Amino acid sequence: MSAIPASLTAAGQDPAALVDACLAAYGDAAAIAFSGAEDVLVLEYARLSGRRFRVFCLDTGRLHPETYTYLAQVEQHFGIQIQYCFPDRTRVEAMVNAKGLFSFYREGHGECCGVRKVEPLRQQLATLRAWITGQRRDQSPTRTDVPPVHVDPVFSGLGGGPLIKVNPLAAVPQAEVWATIRAYGLPTNALHDQGYVSIGCAPCTRPLRPGEHERAARWWWEEGTKKECGLHAGNLRTS
Ligand code: SF4
Repeated sequence: MSAIPASLTAAGQDPAALVDACLAAYGDAAAIAFSGAEDVLVLEYARLSGRRFRVFCLDTGRLHPETYTYLAQVEQHFGIQIQYCFPDRTRVEAMVNAKGLFSFYREGHGECCGVRKVEPLRQQLATLRAWITGQRRDQSPTRTDVPPVHVDPVFSGLGGGPLIKVNPLAAVPQAEVWATIRAYGLPTNALHDQGYVSIGCAPCTRPLRPGEHERAARWWWEEGTKKECGLHAGNLRTS
């Protein structure tokens, strides 16, 4: 028997229906992972569902000041308290004191993302049975196959059980996301007005250049096929 509830499968690729079905099926055992970018639209679909919803954000300690300001605006707009997940202080200190503040430029982003993002996420997901992300297929070469709902191939959920991963915006093109954000009058991160499309940590994100794929502006010193920070490592192909 599939671990995915029939109600979620029946939602198809409809973003609002997917969010509603997930919240209905899992309640407080589901949470939205918010990155501080156009995934704010997922929060709006949660609000429109009329259901209670939880939101968490990975605070790596390296986010742009504009993102912190935006996170506070989003809390105010939706009347919610985002749950911030911080990295383990001892591990950050050991890494930075051994390798410096910018080791990812020399050694790749794997270790730093592992400490600052993946471990805090793993701990958060271990409290859940489902999580909702803002991933879209048109974001990068690593995301072209993102399904609207599946069993997370990387992380476990509550008690080590299966974790359902819902990507309500999977099939929604970027232009449609932005048109919907504007139609709903949602607050947006000021970095978007400075040419940023994908929003991540300050040292690892730059404004997008003409003709570039959205994720080209993340870890631009590395290969395009490796541009996942571990949060969505199941997207990476091994061949
Ligand atoms: S995006 Fe950059 S600064 Fe942020 S956790 Fe990854 S390597 Fe570290």
